[in-house]
Amino acid sequence: MAKGRSRRVLGAALLVAALASTAACSGDSGSGSAGSPGAPAPAAGGQAPAKTAAQLAREKKAALAKRRAVRAAAAKKWGLRLTPLEAPAPPRTKPRITTRKGFETDGEGLPPVFTTVPTKEKVVFLTIDDGAEKDPALLRMMSELDIPYSAFLSDYVIGDDYGYFAKMQRSRPEGVSLHNHTLHHKYLPGLSYAQQKREICGMQDVIEKKYGKRPELFRPPYGNYNEDTLRAAKSCGVKAVPLWASEAFPDHMEWREWDRDLHPGDIVLTHFRGEEDWKGSMPDMIRRAMNVITAKGYAVARLEDYV
Ligand SMILES: [Zn+2]
Repeated sequence: MAKGRSRRVLGAALLVAALASTAACSGDSGSGSAGSPGAPAPAAGGQAPAKTAAQLAREKKAALAKRRAVRAAAAKKWGLRLTPLEAPAPPRTKPRITTRKGFETDGEGLPPVFTTVPTKEKVVFLTIDDGAEKDPALLRMMSELDIPYSAFLSDYVIGDDYGYFAKMQRSRPEGVSLHNHTLHHKYLPGLSYAQQKREICGMQDVIEKKYGKRPELFRPPYGNYNEDTLRAAKSCGVKAVPLWASEAFPDHMEWREWDRDLHPGDIVLTHFRGEEDWKGSMPDMIRRAMNVITAKGYAVARLEDYV
């Protein structure tokens, strides 16, 4: 009995010691250097003196230069011809988005269908569809290059590894948003309203359950939809239906507009595909798309900051 109790006491003592050392470690790695040897003593009342505007401006400039240098090094590492441009600050209020002319249905008050976000900034938005190819190099590349993107996922191809997209979601400081591209990637206008609702709202549920957030954006497979599609999407929380103005492949771009060019606010589509599906890897595709985007003077911005 006594032996058992002393073992328990020893166990508890070890636990306390472990907790104390964990606390000490997290104190060291935290932002506060207070208490570290050699750190300056905090001013009376624990308040650092306010920085002057000039000091703040200098710090901001230095941070920007550092970010540029890191990005230039990443661009070199990943074989980009040019360093990606820095996107301007997100708009204070999101632009009002309406359905593109010629893309309307008879229904009213439905989520807008568009291919370009109204903005004067030289930004484009990168969107990646489906989810078959799950290349860890893509996550590293995008995070090192600091390029925002959004994923439109279809359950039938992500179901064998939901974890890859959970990693993607956490792979950038502001997160990578995961949006809806239906359960089974069917041609929606060929389905009844009830069937479309199952395809779209079923995917809303999957993403919410697996990734903790119900998507606000939905993209119909092949860009095909009818009024039932938009009604069904609206019924389960979809706010907007972004299509695309151009599409990136590892060896070429395809353009929707007659001028075969980028425009401010254009949405660029591409896919999660591997070398068995097209002429290159995911990094090959990003490399080429970024070379085109940067050479034309555009930065990649975060779609969710505008829509
Ligand atoms: Zn698709």
